[in-house]
Amino acid sequence: MKLLVTGGAGFIGSAVVRAAIGRGLGVVNVDCLAYSANLENLAAVEGNPLYVFVQADIRDAAAMAAIFAHHQPDAVLHLAAESHVDRSIDAPMAFVETNVVGTAVLLEAARAYFEGLAGERREGFRFLHISTDEVFGALGAEGRFSEASAYDPSSPYSASKAASDHLARAWGRTFGLPVIVTSACNNYGPHQFPEKLIPVVILSAIEGRPIPLYGDGANVRDWLFVEDHAEALLAVLEKGRPGETYAISGETEASNRDLVTRLCGHLDALRPRAAGPHATLIHQVADRPGHDFRYALDAAKLRGELGWAPRIGLDEGLERTARWYLDNPGWWTRIRERGFAGDRLGLAQKAAS
Ligand code: NAD
Repeated sequence: MKLLVTGGAGFIGSAVVRAAIGRGLGVVNVDCLAYSANLENLAAVEGNPLYVFVQADIRDAAAMAAIFAHHQPDAVLHLAAESHVDRSIDAPMAFVETNVVGTAVLLEAARAYFEGLAGERREGFRFLHISTDEVFGALGAEGRFSEASAYDPSSPYSASKAASDHLARAWGRTFGLPVIVTSACNNYGPHQFPEKLIPVVILSAIEGRPIPLYGDGANVRDWLFVEDHAEALLAVLEKGRPGETYAISGETEASNRDLVTRLCGHLDALRPRAAGPHATLIHQVADRPGHDFRYALDAAKLRGELGWAPRIGLDEGLERTARWYLDNPGWWTRIRERGFAGDRLGLAQKAAS
């Protein structure tokens, strides 16, 4: 079986590529190598005869058509996206272009290819659209989102993902493309670009800089270790039903303050700081505009129908992640050398009403 994975040089995409190759599946990784991509994430599969990398932009219709025609994939796992909420506040149009237009271009290329398939290859073809629980907006203190929740996105990022989810489902309902949508909660783990919360905390702590905590730190997120997400996607690919949506969750909620404090505790154990516990570096900064209060996701359907369950608990995952950044300073130093300064983004003010 050969998979076309988009965004395979990114954080989650590279975990999917490594997991798929580990299972003996062929992978064509299509990635334009935007700022968050890193081919070092794929060192483990480089040179493997099951693996091919193609540098291409999902917005390029001719390139997408040529890739389908040449590589003849059995399924698509679509992860390529602009993925950082704070960047979407500063420059929303890039999110519309890649997440909305790019997804539509890819769906059209997949449809044209699918229409030319016959027999078992047509029966078995799948288009997995990888999305986020952020499309559902914010929760209060109680309840969880599920596949049935109404869409109510808050940020340009989540709105662009919501739009792409609707496009994917429309290509299923209108054209018969065997689309499956997955909605996952916040991912963490090795190889995450150091603009996201967990790597920001780890690198600030390692370097003895203030650890930024947005607002009062009470916002709650549901955390999923990236390798568990990759396994869930492969389970959906194997056993998921076209036309369905599957919520993927670690079912592990933590407030940002609790998460950052736990991470500091792991760093204290792994590399004690002479000047005192890492938690003394935690420093409250201005909140993100439109910051959703709480996300939590119910993965009962995925557990019940497909028999998937997360394997890595939050503390084990945080410890593994902290250890990985400590053991791989070259990975994040080279990102900094490429010009990524790690400055705070997304501080646009809401217009006064
Ligand atoms: P990432 O930013 O690490 O990776 C995105 C990848 O997409 C990069 O390699 C980038 O080069 C590529 N890309 C961007 N624009 C492209 C284009 N126009 N053409 C081809 N490739 C392009 O992001 P991630 O965190 O790995 O997220 C992957 C997917 O998972 C996204 O669709 C995101 O919305 C979704 N998701 C992420 C999370 C999370 O917590 N990170 C949670 C749920 C869902």
